[in-house]
Amino acid sequence: MRNMSALYGTYARSNLAFERGEGVRLFAQDGTEYLDFHAGVAVNALGHGDPHMVASLKAAAEKVWHTANTFTIPEQERLGQRLVENTFADACFFTNSGTEAVECAVKTARHYFWANGEKDRYEVIAFTGSFHGRTMGMIAAAGNEHYLEGFGPALPGFKHVDPNDLAAVEKAITPQTCAILLEPVQGEGGCTEMTADFMRGLRALCDKHGMLLILDEVQSGYGRTGKFFAHEWSGIEPDIMAVAKGIGAGFPLGACLAKGEVAKSMVPGTHGSTYGGNPLACAMGNAVLDRMLAPGFFDQVDKVGQRLKWHLQQLAQRFPDQVLELRGRGLLAGIRIASPVRDVVAKLRDEHHLLAMTANENVLRLLPPLVVTEADIEEAVSRLAAVFEEFEAAKATA
Ligand SMILES: *Cc1c(COP(=O)(O)O)cnc(C)c1O
Repeated sequence: MRNMSALYGTYARSNLAFERGEGVRLFAQDGTEYLDFHAGVAVNALGHGDPHMVASLKAAAEKVWHTANTFTIPEQERLGQRLVENTFADACFFTNSGTEAVECAVKTARHYFWANGEKDRYEVIAFTGSFHGRTMGMIAAAGNEHYLEGFGPALPGFKHVDPNDLAAVEKAITPQTCAILLEPVQGEGGCTEMTADFMRGLRALCDKHGMLLILDEVQSGYGRTGKFFAHEWSGIEPDIMAVAKGIGAGFPLGACLAKGEVAKSMVPGTHGSTYGGNPLACAMGNAVLDRMLAPGFFDQVDKVGQRLKWHLQQLAQRFPDQVLELRGRGLLAGIRIASPVRDVVAKLRDEHHLLAMTANENVLRLLPPLVVTEADIEEAVSRLAAVFEEFEAAKATA
């Protein structure tokens, strides 16, 4: 089937296709039920077929879908207002995707210094193992040579140091440095969490040198770690933040949030997007917030995230030769394993009907919808245990 596809071969796709979803479960075309700990790469925050999301989409479909940003978009104004009220930010720019949100974040930082007369201050310190999406700009921002290979000269202005190494960051600062860009918990890179000390250290360095702190919370944000945004765990605030994935819970949407002072030079003509923040997308963004800003939502995610951690710790004790390290936070959980992660993910999917993800550094990534229950987690972990048992048995007979 696959080799007959009319599509680019950019994805190593499985032949599996889904028809229907309900909560944390997906149903294939042949009716087989799958437990979804993949959530469309941390997108389906509210699971599949959430009644409020379905009703909101139907209601929005009866209204104006799109007008472009030439006109006032009430749904966008409202979504922006709610984000501002619930975060460090004073201003938002809406995009269609995560990578555009990070692009906007970097453009905002550079433009801020340019407008303040510091025209040479454009360099951004970013981190090895990071991921910021696939535009020409953001493959240069990410600390991974592989994303750049074959695509011509990398956009200049990015420097990379290892995460959780404050001394290395300090050493990399020059008079040209305008900002530090990082994911509080790296997603694609292998679920490495930044320590609270590191986050606070970066904030202090930014304050000391007059630089801006940009967080890419495209994956770690929107409740995934048990708080609205992952940086809240360290008690610091960024100056600019990129969000996407869970923000639309399946409807394409992203946003760049910034402090008012930082965003004030972004005047007409400096940036734009045709689709970004259109009425339909923002209606869905508001529907997501209706659910997430309800009292107790993030506390529940935190609770279930801690249960996931506990179950994974039990798994690690039971299979010390398979589970090498537990990473991540909340429902962005990584398990560095001994067996090839691609084989494990395929086995989980095809034989145990559990959808999980890979991450770099041979990490198995679990990203269930935020509405997952402990019973779902127990089921997922027992399927993982079954696979590890098979690998152990194979080893014993080899
Ligand atoms: C997924 C992701 C992106 C890119 O988002 P797209 O919507 O695919 O453009 C950027 N940063 C992080 C941290 C991500 O996880």
